[in-house]
Amino acid sequence: MGFELSTGGVNAFLRELARTGRVVAPVRFEGGGAFTGTDCVRYAEVTDIENVVFDEKSRFSFRELLLPPSQTLFYFTEDSITEPTPETRDTIIFLRSCDLHAVKRLDEICRGGANPDYYYEQRRKNVKFVLMGCKKAFDSCFCVDMGTNISDNYDLSIEPDGDGWHLDCKNAEWEPLLRAQGGTETPVTPAHVTETKTRVSIPDDLDFSVAKSKLWDEYDKRCIACGRCNFSCPTCTCFSMQDLFYQDNPKTGERRRVLASCMVDGFSDMAGGVVYRKNHGARMRYKVLHKVYDFKKRSGFHMCVGCGRCDDVCPEYISFSHIVNRLGDAMKEVSEHAE
Ligand code: SF4
Ligand code: SF4
Repeated sequence: MGFELSTGGVNAFLRELARTGRVVAPVRFEGGGAFTGTDCVRYAEVTDIENVVFDEKSRFSFRELLLPPSQTLFYFTEDSITEPTPETRDTIIFLRSCDLHAVKRLDEICRGGANPDYYYEQRRKNVKFVLMGCKKAFDSCFCVDMGTNISDNYDLSIEPDGDGWHLDCKNAEWEPLLRAQGGTETPVTPAHVTETKTRVSIPDDLDFSVAKSKLWDEYDKRCIACGRCNFSCPTCTCFSMQDLFYQDNPKTGERRRVLASCMVDGFSDMAGGVVYRKNHGARMRYKVLHKVYDFKKRSGFHMCVGCGRCDDVCPEYISFSHIVNRLGDAMKEVSEHAE
């Protein structure tokens, strides 16, 4: 059901939702950017729609709400283990279509197997989604080519329209709330982009022979293995474990899982001093092919959703989308070499 609502009406609706849950959306942190005098758009709780940033892409994605960068799994003493109290309130997340498709990837990874991720499930079961319609693509987006520019599995969609807001509600419990805040019915189709400046083409016949290409060698030097691309990606889920022992009683502490990156040193270290992917080019190969090759073989869809954040944040100006577009030539190079 579509609605038209004033800003005051939307804010009253958000406050209703906040009575039993937390509403989380991209907001601007002034001066919070990586460099002096720059801002950062990232997720935080909101009560006013005016604070939600619609005209800029968030630096980090919604992922940190489902898979926090650092999460305590349990506290331990010599003879007991206690779990932290789980968040039981609803979490209402504002996100764009590409990121809503990223939720499907996270669900596949964390819920799809024989042993679903218990901690992910604790958070995921209480989440509702508000789709932020995209009227215009940002420069690095390539959602259209990844097939992630349209979503319909939301509870609510929202986008500014003149002085007010257009909303499409699919959550039957929220419809009376919207009406109570003065919402008038009107047909609403969430805005979505149909073209992007950045384009990608993944070869239909992509196969693992591309791993032998010299393409990857270039990144031995160019990539500095900082991991920023992974930390901003909405579909990266790798983590490592840390046990913290408290100083006042070293027999007590907590176990945390902490976000990891396949691009940084130590990720592929094994017992006995073996390092599987020592060169940064080998790490790049692993990351790129995981995002646009082997995940699809297993799950039927690509892991990358084309949000473009990895291209936005790389300090070495390495473009993931450009690498994907080089895979066709890399395949030819390998086959010519084999002849
Ligand atoms: S690989 Fe890059 S473009 Fe693809 S989903 Fe991750 S951050 Fe976005
Ligand atoms: S952000 Fe760029 S330099 Fe850093 S690990 Fe990723 S590709 Fe390499």
